[in-house]
Amino acid sequence: MSRRDAEALISVVVPAYNEAAVLETLRAAVFAGLEGQRAELIFVNDGSTDGSAEVLDRLAATDPRVRVVHLARNFGHQAALAAGLRYARGAAVAVMDADMQDDPAALAAMAARWREGWDVVYAVRHGRKEGALKRAGFYSFYRLLNMVSQTPFPTDAGNFGLMDRRVVDAVLSMPERDRYFAGLRRWVGFRQTGIPVERAARYDGEPRVSLLGLLRLAKSAVFSFSTVPLAVFYLIAAAASGAFFFLSGFSLYHKLVTGLSIPGWTSTVLISTFFGAINALGIGVLGDYVIRIYDQVRARPMFLVARTVNLEDEPSRPGRASPRDPRSPPG
Ligand code: UDP
Ligand code: MG
Repeated sequence: MSRRDAEALISVVVPAYNEAAVLETLRAAVFAGLEGQRAELIFVNDGSTDGSAEVLDRLAATDPRVRVVHLARNFGHQAALAAGLRYARGAAVAVMDADMQDDPAALAAMAARWREGWDVVYAVRHGRKEGALKRAGFYSFYRLLNMVSQTPFPTDAGNFGLMDRRVVDAVLSMPERDRYFAGLRRWVGFRQTGIPVERAARYDGEPRVSLLGLLRLAKSAVFSFSTVPLAVFYLIAAAASGAFFFLSGFSLYHKLVTGLSIPGWTSTVLISTFFGAINALGIGVLGDYVIRIYDQVRARPMFLVARTVNLEDEPSRPGRASPRDPRSPPG
C-alpha cells in the first residue's frame, strides 16, 4: 500500500493545557523519535493561561513542522483531542499527552507496526508512576469497563497510540458529543495491536485533568459503551418479583393456615414488593426505549468496511450508505 510508504506523512496530535514548561522538550523528543520520517506536530492549545500560547507560536515560527490550533477557551482533553484529529493531515496520526508521560521514543515502533499493515497501534501502559490509589482506580476501571461493555477493550490502553487515516476518519465520523476517545478508536475495528510502553512520571507531578475529570471520563466510557446500567433494572424486577411470590406464599400461609401473622403485615408486604417489581420492570422497559433513542441520536455509522473484493474500494469513507452512490452497499 503506497499510503504507508517512507514518504507518508505522520501527524502527532498533542492537546496541551498549561504545559508551557515542557513544550519545547516535547517538540525535540517527538521529532527525534520520528527521525528520518515526514512528520508534523499538531499542538492543540486548550485555553492555556500560563504562556503556552506564546511558546507554541514561537515554536511554530521557527519550525514549519509544528502546527498550532488555539481553542477559544478550555474545552477539556477529549474536545482538544477531537480538534487536533480534525486538523491532522497525516496518512497516520499519533495521539499523545504533552506531559512526557507518553514516551516519544515509542512513536517509531508504532509507525513501524503501522507500515507492517496494522491500523491501530496503541500503547499498553505498564510501570505507572501514579500513587497506589490512582493506580488501583485505573486497574479496576479498565476491568470493569470490559465486564460491562459490548465492545471488548484492551486493558491498560489509554490514548497514546497511532492510527491509520481510515481509523481517524471513522472516529471523526462519529458525531457524539460525550467522547471517550480510546473507546471510539476501539469500536471502529480494523486491525489493532498493542505494544508495551512504560508510563513515565508527569514532568511536574501536577495533573491537568482533575480526579473529578477522570471520574467523569470513566462514567462517559461506561455509558457510551454499555447498556448494563439500564438493563440492570430487569434484574431488579426479576429479584423483586421473586421476593413478591415468596413473601405472598409465606404471609398468606400464616394468615390463612396458621393464623400467626400480625394484622396489617401481609397486605403491606404484598403491596410494597408487588409495586417494587412493577416499578423496576417499568424502568427496564423505558430503558430499552431510551437506549434505542440514544443509539439513534448518537448516529454512529451502522458499519465500517475494511475492504471489498471485485468492487471499487473506497477505504477512507465511513460506511454510511448514500442513496446517490450506487456503489455503496445497502445500509
Ligand atoms: N489537557 C487538555 N485540556 C484539559 C486538561 C488536560 O488539553 O482541560 C491535556 C494536558 O495538557 C495533557 C493531556 O491533556 O497533555 C493529559 O492531561 P493529564 O496529564 O492531566 O492527564 P493524565 O495523564 O493524568 O490522564
Ligand atoms: Mg498525564
